[in-house]
Amino acid sequence: MNITTYNRRKAAGKCVYCGSVEPEPGRVSCKSCSIKRSKKYYHDDEFRKRLSEYHSKKYHDRKVSGICTVCGKASAEHGGLKCKACTMKISAYMKNYNSKNNICK
Ligand SMILES: [Zn+2]
Ligand SMILES: [Zn+2]
Repeated sequence: MNITTYNRRKAAGKCVYCGSVEPEPGRVSCKSCSIKRSKKYYHDDEFRKRLSEYHSKKYHDRKVSGICTVCGKASAEHGGLKCKACTMKISAYMKNYNSKNNICK
C-alpha cells in the first residue's frame, strides 16, 4: 500500500488497510484489520528478532553494570545476575511450577 492510498482512505473516513469499512474510533484501521496486522506482526521474524535483540541488549547492559537482570532496579547479588528478591521470587515460582507440572508420566 502506498501513502496516497493510505491518505485517501484516511481522508474518506475508511480503514486505511481494507478501505471498505469505517475504522475504529481514534484509529486508522478497522477491528479485523488491526487484529490481522497484530497477528502478522507477531509472526514477523524481523520484528521478533528486533525484540529479542532489544531484550538481550537490556540484559547485557544490566549484567555489565551489576544490576539485577530481572527487575533492573536492585543491584545483583555478588557474582550473580539477580537481586535477592528476584532470586527468591523465581525459585518460589519454579517450585510452584514444578509441583504443578510434576505429574507422573
Ligand atoms: Zn479494515
Ligand atoms: Zn531484581
